[in-house]
Amino acid sequence: MNFHEYQAKELFASYGIPVPAGTIARTPDEAVIAAQGLGGHRWVVKAQVHAGGRGKAGGVKLVRSLDEVRAQANRMLNMRITTYQTGGLALPVDLVLIGEAINIKTELYLSALVDRVNRCVTFMGSAAGGVDIEQVAATEPEKIVTVKVDNIAGFQAYQARQMGFGMGLSAKHVRQLTKIMASLYRLFTDKDLSLLEVNPLIIDSNDNLVALDAKINTDDNALFRHPDLAAMRDEAQEDPTEAAASRHGLNYITLDGNIACMVNGAGLAMATMDVVKLNGGEPANFLDVGGGTNAERVKEAFKIILSGDSVAAILVNIFGGIVRCDLISEGIIAAVKEVGVNVPVIVRLEGTKVDEGRQLLADSGLAIISASDLNDAAKKAVAAVENTPGNNSGAAQ
Ligand code: GDP
Ligand code: MN
Repeated sequence: MNFHEYQAKELFASYGIPVPAGTIARTPDEAVIAAQGLGGHRWVVKAQVHAGGRGKAGGVKLVRSLDEVRAQANRMLNMRITTYQTGGLALPVDLVLIGEAINIKTELYLSALVDRVNRCVTFMGSAAGGVDIEQVAATEPEKIVTVKVDNIAGFQAYQARQMGFGMGLSAKHVRQLTKIMASLYRLFTDKDLSLLEVNPLIIDSNDNLVALDAKINTDDNALFRHPDLAAMRDEAQEDPTEAAASRHGLNYITLDGNIACMVNGAGLAMATMDVVKLNGGEPANFLDVGGGTNAERVKEAFKIILSGDSVAAILVNIFGGIVRCDLISEGIIAAVKEVGVNVPVIVRLEGTKVDEGRQLLADSGLAIISASDLNDAAKKAVAAVENTPGNNSGAAQ
């Protein structure tokens, strides 16, 4: 799950990590009141969306008067933000963070992530912080210092020294960094995070380290033990189709292609997407309806798939190990009738009661294309998409 900057900063503050003072606002009036409450003569207005890259998209502005606070808050609250991190979505700005303006001496980069290769949490840091860290990683990887934390021993002070001196910091800043990294590691493990990023971590005009931006991601499989974090969810920032799917317990990810896939089991879903691609097609989504699915979930899955306008065919691939193919067929028939599917539906069934399942489809009178195996199903789906009038995307390239 993704979080807003202000939520991540609240967590940082509760772990003793220095962040600038700030207040959240939902309207331009609230923004002005927030700025008055903070005091001073300069503020920063920051659009709260689930993505970085806001600065370059007009979502971070330094202002010098209450009129400017109002104007910038008004502009941001009426915009949608698209950055290189929004995955093609234009995210609504429902909140702005009004922060005290900080004078920056230096911008650094610091992050921590679950390092699957090394089976630990790894910190990455760089003196080349600020908005273009991806560029630094691509062209000057030697400027990034990495520190692997032993799971049993936990984070050690010497690792902060490796990081800090590796980044070229002074002894004073390394001492501050040690506290910050130790707290970040505690936050990371306490809250089951999968990613944490401070970009930039700055040295301010008082010569102190401050987390100027904050981004965290949680491991959703652990969210059940963090009701406080689950309560911070902002569905308005999520892909609406993916959010609807999660409400029905379906694992769904939108992709760029036009062949929708409906599969039971994540492994089979991955294999299905591979076989579609091998046959020259492009999947429109990943969808795992679950191992023990039923007719109701098949129907919901059809609705979700059809809410995407790029779908030109639906490939259903069900292996009846736990479920019965005849029940799945009934679900498909009911869904096609109720939802009004107007694209070709290719169905591959295998497993328990497969003959009964196929017979039901054949007898249904609906234009469902039956496939004998996975490869046959993928071929038929690709052919169906190529035959769709007006289709000019993906498959034939
Ligand atoms: P992002 O673009 O979404 O990552 O948003 P950030 O919070 O990282 O802000 C982008 C950039 O705006 C930072 O790298 C800073 O250069 C600048 N910035 C943000 N807040 C302040 C501030 O309080 N004072 C100053 N001087 N610059 C700021
Ligand atoms: Mn940033």
